[in-house]
Amino acid sequence: MTAHETDKYVYDFAEGNKDLKDLLGGKGANLAEMTNLGLPVPPGFTITTCACQAYLATGREPDGLAGQIEAHLEALERAMGRRLGDPQDPLLVSVRSGARFSMPGMMETVLNVGLNDRSVVGLSDQAGQNDRFAWDSYRRLIQMFGKTVCEVPGEEFEHALDEAKRAKGTHDDLDLDADDLRGLVETYKKIFAKHTGREFPQEPREQLDLAIRAVFESWNAERAILYRRQERIPADLGTAVNVVAMVFGNLGPDSGTGVAFTRDPGSGAQGIYGDYLANAQGEDVVAGIRNTVPLQELERLDKTSYDQLLDIMARLEGHYQDLCDIEFTIERGKLWMLQTRVGKRTAAAAFVIAGQLVDEGLIDLDEALHRVNGAQLAQLMFPRFQLDHEFEAVAQGIGASPGAASGAVVFTSARAVELAAEGKSVILVRRETNPDDLNGMIAAQGILTSRGGKTSHAAVVARGMGKTCVSGADGIEVNVPAKRFTVGGHTVSEGDVVSIDGTTGKVYLGEVPVTPSEVVQYFEGTLDPERTDDALVRAVHRIMTHADARRRLAVRTNADTGADAARARRFGAEGIGLCRTEHMFLGDRRELVERLILAATDAERTDALAALLPLQRQDFVEIFREMAGLPVTVRLIDPPLHEFLPPLEQLAVNVAVAQERGEDVAKEEALLAAVRRMHEENPMLGLRGVRLGLVIPGLFAMQVRAIAEAAVAVTRDGGTACPEIMVPLVGAVQELETVRAEAEKIIAEVVGDSGVEVLIGTMIEVPRAALTAGQIAEAAQFFSFGTNDLTQMGWGFSRDDVEGAFFWRYLELGIFGISPFESIDRDGVGRLIRIAAEEGRAARPGLKLGVCGEHGGDPDSVHFFHEVGLDYVSCSPFRVPVARLEAGRAAIETTGSDSR
Ligand code: ADP
Ligand code: MG
Ligand code: MG
Repeated sequence: MTAHETDKYVYDFAEGNKDLKDLLGGKGANLAEMTNLGLPVPPGFTITTCACQAYLATGREPDGLAGQIEAHLEALERAMGRRLGDPQDPLLVSVRSGARFSMPGMMETVLNVGLNDRSVVGLSDQAGQNDRFAWDSYRRLIQMFGKTVCEVPGEEFEHALDEAKRAKGTHDDLDLDADDLRGLVETYKKIFAKHTGREFPQEPREQLDLAIRAVFESWNAERAILYRRQERIPADLGTAVNVVAMVFGNLGPDSGTGVAFTRDPGSGAQGIYGDYLANAQGEDVVAGIRNTVPLQELERLDKTSYDQLLDIMARLEGHYQDLCDIEFTIERGKLWMLQTRVGKRTAAAAFVIAGQLVDEGLIDLDEALHRVNGAQLAQLMFPRFQLDHEFEAVAQGIGASPGAASGAVVFTSARAVELAAEGKSVILVRRETNPDDLNGMIAAQGILTSRGGKTSHAAVVARGMGKTCVSGADGIEVNVPAKRFTVGGHTVSEGDVVSIDGTTGKVYLGEVPVTPSEVVQYFEGTLDPERTDDALVRAVHRIMTHADARRRLAVRTNADTGADAARARRFGAEGIGLCRTEHMFLGDRRELVERLILAATDAERTDALAALLPLQRQDFVEIFREMAGLPVTVRLIDPPLHEFLPPLEQLAVNVAVAQERGEDVAKEEALLAAVRRMHEENPMLGLRGVRLGLVIPGLFAMQVRAIAEAAVAVTRDGGTACPEIMVPLVGAVQELETVRAEAEKIIAEVVGDSGVEVLIGTMIEVPRAALTAGQIAEAAQFFSFGTNDLTQMGWGFSRDDVEGAFFWRYLELGIFGISPFESIDRDGVGRLIRIAAEEGRAARPGLKLGVCGEHGGDPDSVHFFHEVGLDYVSCSPFRVPVARLEAGRAAIETTGSDSR
C-alpha cells in the first residue's frame, strides 16, 4: 500500500462504524458504533490500520499522519475542555491497540498518557485534592509505558510494587497511600532510567507519539506473530490505534471497572455474566490483583449505573443481534463504555445462543446456521473425561484423534479383537501401527503409540474412524513380546487399564470416568430432540435440520463394514462413498491371500480366488442391506499385495528359528522369497491399485463378481442394491478401459434380468488422471476424488514420512497454514480437482462427482467442494454430521464467513 499526503489516517469516533473493522480495527469500529448509538463513550479517535501498514513497511510514520493526529487531538481537547499536558487541568488519554481480529492479550495498551511531574499535581487538584488517585495513575503510566513502549522488564515494576506493599504490611494495593505511591513513582522512574538510559519523558506529546509507535510495532511482536499463525490471521493486516480520553475507575469507592457478557459464554444461558472491581483501573479486573465481585453486586453498590448498564447491554444485543462482551468503567457514579464486541463463546454456547436468537426473532435460521461451524460440532461429539478426581498424566503425546477412551492395554491386533469380542474395552498400544493393525484398531476403544505424529498411520486411520488416538507418546517404552510398557517408573502390563485423551494427548493410569456427549446420543437416535430439555440438543437438532434443507452437496460415508454403515446412516449418511475392500483380505483370510500370492500355476491362483469370492460376497451383502437403496461405492483392492504378508524381518526370523528346530519351512521360505521379490523402494508409487488388477489375472474379476452377486442376492431378497465399482489409481483412460471391459462382461453375466444396475467409475487421485479427465470421463460413469493420494502425489510428499521430517518447519515458515492432508490445498491440489471436474463434465455431461478421503469431512474443504460443484462428499461416520452442517453453511454463504 502506498501512502499519500491526502490519505485519511485518523477517524473521529463519530466518523466510524462497526463495518469499518478492516480500517479501524474491531475495537475502534465498535467504539465508533457505540458513540453513534448515543452510548456514553469517552471521546477519542482511531488511527487506521493503513497508517500501521505504512509504518511497518517503511519504518516511519506516513506523511500527513502527524498533522492529522494534531488536528484530532485539538478537537478532543476542545470537546473535553482540557489540554494534554496542562499542569492545572490535564487531559489524559489511553493509547489502545485494536486489530481486525481480536488477539486477546497479544498487543498493547497504555493508560494515563499525558501525566508528568507537574500535571500529576493538577490531576490531584481536579480530583478534589485526591493525591492518592493522582499518584496511582502516574505510577501506572510509568509502569505501562516502560513495559510496553520501552521494553523495561515488567517484573521489575511488579517487584517494586510488591516491595512497597510488604513495607506497608499489606497485600492490597488499596492500602498504599499517596506518600507510598509517590515513593513508588520515584522507584519506577529509576527503574525506567536504568533500563532505557534516559529519564521518563515529561513531554506529553512525546509520550503519545512513542505510545502510538509502540502499538504499531506490537503487531510484529513475537507472541503476536505466533498467535496469528495459530489462528490463521493474515500477517499483513496491521493494527489500528485508539486514542481515548481517560475516565477513572480509581477515584474512590464510588468508582470502579468491570467486564461483562450479555449471556453466559460457557453454556449460552440467558442472563448477564461479569465481574466488577471497585476503585480500580484497567486490567486490574482481569489481572487477579484483587478479588472481583460478581457483576450482580453492582446493583447494591450503584443501582443507577447498574440499571443503565443492563439497559445498554440489552440494546447492544439487539443491535449486534448476538452475544456481546463489554468493558466499562464507572467514574464517581457515571458509567462509561470502553469496549464492546461480539463475544467469543464455547461450542455449546454457539449453538444454544444461535437457537435462542432465532426464538427471540433477532436472526433467522440461515443466520443461525452461519454462526456455528463444523469444528464446534465436532468438539461437541467427543466424549469427555471427568478429571475432578486426582488423576495425573503419566505421559504426554500428541492429541492425534480427539476423544476420551479407557480400556485394558493390549499390544497386538489379535488380542484386541479377542478381548473386544468378550465385550471388554481395550486400548491398543503399539510403537507405531501399520495396516495389519486395522482389525485391532477397529476393535479398540483407543490407540496409543510411542512414535509418529499427526499424520502417522495411527493418527490418520484413527481420525478416519473417529477413534481416540494419542500418538508419539515418547515417554512410553513399548515391549510387545513382553506384553508391557514402561513409563516414568511404572510398568503397565497387558490387561491393566489406562485412559487416553486424544484432545490433550495425555495418558493416565487407571480408568478415568467418561461422560458421553448428548449430541452423539442425539445423532444415534437415543435422545429425542423433541422431548429433551437439553437446550444444546434442541439447538443442534434445529440447526442440523436447517442445514439439511439448505445444502446441495450430498453426504456419504466411508464405511467398510455393515456396522459402520449402520452408524453412518443414523448420522445422516446418504450412501457410501468409499468402501475399502482391503480389510476383507486380513485376519483369517490372510491364508487365502498368501495362497493367492504364492500361486505357482493358474489353477492354484484360480482356487485361491474362488475361495475368497464367497467371503467377499458376504461382506458386500451386509453392506448393501444396511444401505438399502442408497448408492455404495466399492473400491477395488488398492494397496500393494505384500502389505498382506508378514514383514520381512519377522519372516526371516521365523525361517531361521524353524530351521534351527529342524521343522519344515517350505511355506515360510516361499513367503520370504515372495516378500523379497515384491519388495519395493517406493511402495506408494509401486504395484498397487489398478496396476495390481492388470497384473494379477482374476483378482479384480473376483471382486467385481462378488459385488454383482451380492447386489443380485440382496435384490432377489426384496432389497435394493446400488453398487458403484470404483477403480483406484487410474492415470490413463486405457487402464480404466481394460478393467471396465472385463468387468462389464462379468456384470452382464451375473446381473442378467435381475434389474440390478452397476456403475463403473474411477478415482481421480493421480495428477495425470486429473489432467486427462476429459479422456477418462469417456470410460467412467463417475469420478471420486481421492484427495489423500492426490495431495501426496500433487505435492510429492510421502504422507507417512513427511510430517515428522519437516512439516513443522513448513508450518513455521508459513509455507502452508495447515497440513494439506488435513485441509485441501485450494491453489494446487484444488486446481487439479477443478480441472478434472470441468473437463470431465464437458466430456460427459452430468458426470457424477464426489470426493472420498479425509478432506470430505474437513469444514474448509467441504466449502471448496461445494464451490467446485461436486455432487457429494464422503467421510468417516463421525464426520458425517460435520459435513452436513458445513455443506449447509456453504450453500447459504454468498460472502466470506467471519466466525473469528
Ligand atoms: P485489551 O485490548 O487488552 O482489552 P484495552 O485497550 O481494552 O485492552 O484496554 C484495557 C483496559 O484499559 C480497558 O478494559 C479499560 O478498563 C482500560 N482503559 C482503556 N482505555 C481507557 C480509558 N480511556 N479510560 C479508562 N480506562 C481505559
Ligand atoms: Mg479491552
Ligand atoms: Mg488412494
